[in-house]
Amino acid sequence: MRLVFLGAPGAGKGTQADLLCEKKGWRHISTGELLRDAVKRGTPLGLRAKAAMDRGDLVADDIILGLIEETLDAIKDSGFVLDGFPRTLPQARGLDDMLDRKGKDLDRVVLLTASEEEVMERLAGRGRTDDTPETVRNRLKVYEEKTAPLVDYYEQKGILDRVNGMGDIPVIQERILAVL
Ligand code: ADP
Repeated sequence: MRLVFLGAPGAGKGTQADLLCEKKGWRHISTGELLRDAVKRGTPLGLRAKAAMDRGDLVADDIILGLIEETLDAIKDSGFVLDGFPRTLPQARGLDDMLDRKGKDLDRVVLLTASEEEVMERLAGRGRTDDTPETVRNRLKVYEEKTAPLVDYYEQKGILDRVNGMGDIPVIQERILAVL
């Protein structure tokens, strides 16, 4: 299975992707994790990405697409869940082209939904360095402007499933398994 998890920051994509991949033996690909790792190691890519991440802005599409291509090549034919990517229409089109060239495609896109109060509360409790109130506000704004249009994009392709992301973690996991 090749899946994308879509949803606002704090919607629970990372938590649910981890659980699902562990259960199914798929690879969890989180662009946020890959970028934080590159920043920590001080790689050229990390240095280019850091300022945007600290502001809660998006890292440039070409950087992200390069990172994804490298990762997809490395995991060969494993199933995967993409978490935090794509985040813009150019990234979504880039992903389609990339998979196309490899003779593959996406199976489903799972949209995790949660109220704005709930995601604000979750992000406040997480304590990551880019989880300050100001950055969080910017990340939510960027989500609405740049990422929310992907819902239509995937709905038009007929591969979108909406899953209620409010409630207990195992209950949400069951909902995801049910739509898949
Ligand atoms: P969250 O889901 O809480 O927003 P992530 O860990 O997915 O957090 O991402 C953290 C930061 O990494 C983002 O605010 C952004 O700066 C950068 N980032 C992650 N994925 C992408 C992407 N696909 N395109 C551009 N920037 C990204």
